[in-house]
Amino acid sequence: MEVYKATILAFSGNWMSGIATLLLEDSEGSGGASEIFCENAQTVRCLEGAFGNVIGEGHTVNNDGGFVGKEIYYSMDPMDLLLECFTPVEDASPELIDYYNKERNVFAKSSIEIICIECGCAFYTFKGDTRNMCENCLHPIG
Ligand SMILES: [Zn+2]
Repeated sequence: MEVYKATILAFSGNWMSGIATLLLEDSEGSGGASEIFCENAQTVRCLEGAFGNVIGEGHTVNNDGGFVGKEIYYSMDPMDLLLECFTPVEDASPELIDYYNKERNVFAKSSIEIICIECGCAFYTFKGDTRNMCENCLHPIG
């Protein structure tokens, strides 16, 4: 299981559709915001339970609700399609924090910095990485 850490920027969904989206900003500074899909009703309940002030009048989601700007640990389902679960950082168990930090360390240790000989940009490659060209200038590496 891969655990991610991110800040919630926005939630978007409605009670008519089963799927909603969460706009998240990655906490490791890996490149801005990304949108993930989640099960609408379940996620709204979880957000309400974790942060409160989420469900507004007429079963609408309060877009300025308590979740905005909150940092969470989360994981995706085995297919990597839908949010599986999340935990507010302040509620995370020592085991979860430990797991996350260990995973980050493994990644850091197994990654190798490569300087592209063509354009000079630096990027990281890691075990299992299938990229074979510079992301900046597309010069082959290897
Ligand atoms: Zn390059």
